[in-house]
Amino acid sequence: MTDKTIHKTIIIGSGPAGLTAAIYAARANLSPIVFEGNQPGGQLTITTDVENYPGFPDGVLGPDMMDLFRKQAQKFGAECFYKHVSKVDFSSSPFKVYVQDEEYLAESVIISTGASARMLGLAAEKELIGYGVSTCATCDGYFFKEKEIVVIGGGDSAMEEASFLTKFASKVTLIHRREEFRASKIMIDRVLDNPKIEIIKNAVVTDILGSQKDGVSSILLKDTIDGKERNFDCDGVFYGIGHKPNTNQFKGIINLDDQGYIITNPGSTLTNVAGVFACGDVQDSHYRQAITAAGSGCMAAIDAEKYLEDL
Ligand code: NAP
Repeated sequence: MTDKTIHKTIIIGSGPAGLTAAIYAARANLSPIVFEGNQPGGQLTITTDVENYPGFPDGVLGPDMMDLFRKQAQKFGAECFYKHVSKVDFSSSPFKVYVQDEEYLAESVIISTGASARMLGLAAEKELIGYGVSTCATCDGYFFKEKEIVVIGGGDSAMEEASFLTKFASKVTLIHRREEFRASKIMIDRVLDNPKIEIIKNAVVTDILGSQKDGVSSILLKDTIDGKERNFDCDGVFYGIGHKPNTNQFKGIINLDDQGYIITNPGSTLTNVAGVFACGDVQDSHYRQAITAAGSGCMAAIDAEKYLEDL
């Protein structure tokens, strides 16, 4: 199916960046359409309480917040579709955006497909994410006051999360799958110097035990050297094993860095293709917060509006 309409702006992705871009683009009369993707609302829909987003002094549930974002965008005329963009063609204008065999045309495109935290692939993860399992220490650390938690990973993120979580937890155990850490020396030293952090090396987590009602109670740990498995009590599990930007559809089409993040011109959301903009975690491996993503979504809509004005 081909929709012959040439849309002013198509937004791909519906986390805080995409939906903020939709609010601004709609208010600028760009009649944006939003393809929400496989995880409508983005990563916030797999967290519970969000307590650090300004304007919600009593906190707000992640999925509820994203419903509010969407409602606000729709109020100004953005059209949102639960569709996943499978392919794009930016070689000429109007740009082509595909949802399987459906083709959509647009004068400008805003990419806000976000990033996904790497997970271990355990069955328990899906059930317990938001109930003791977290991929974001900044978001969820506060809920683990005086608790014993584990952080999985051996890179800078894991070190940073482990150090940060000692502000709340009574004890943090860092679990790494091999002997050498990938993290930088300064981050490792900070962890080693912290009396609240213990380290278990050469171990992998093979299961997480608990329930949505009572949270996490323990993990199963397998020693990678002798293969022995043991139970390890803890109240929470934080993943620090990296993120992957959701850029598969854009490989070879727009410039990505060596980790796959979209490269934008500093201080803007411009990509190397004029008329294509990127915002949120898909172009930000550093801050990765809802508020920074929303801010860059606003920038993308303003950048798109300016681009269309100058056409
Ligand atoms: P990363 O550097 O890719 O490290 C991921 C860690 O997770 C590695 O130690 C890896 O183990 C482990 N891991 C990956 N998959 C695993 C699995 N399935 N099971 C168990 N462990 C697994 O990712 P990152 O730490 O998120 O850092 C990403 C980038 O951001 C890096 O360039 C980093 O320097 C940067 N960063 C910087 C800062 C800072 O400077 N403040 C903070 C955070 C991140 P192996 O080592 O065995 O592969």
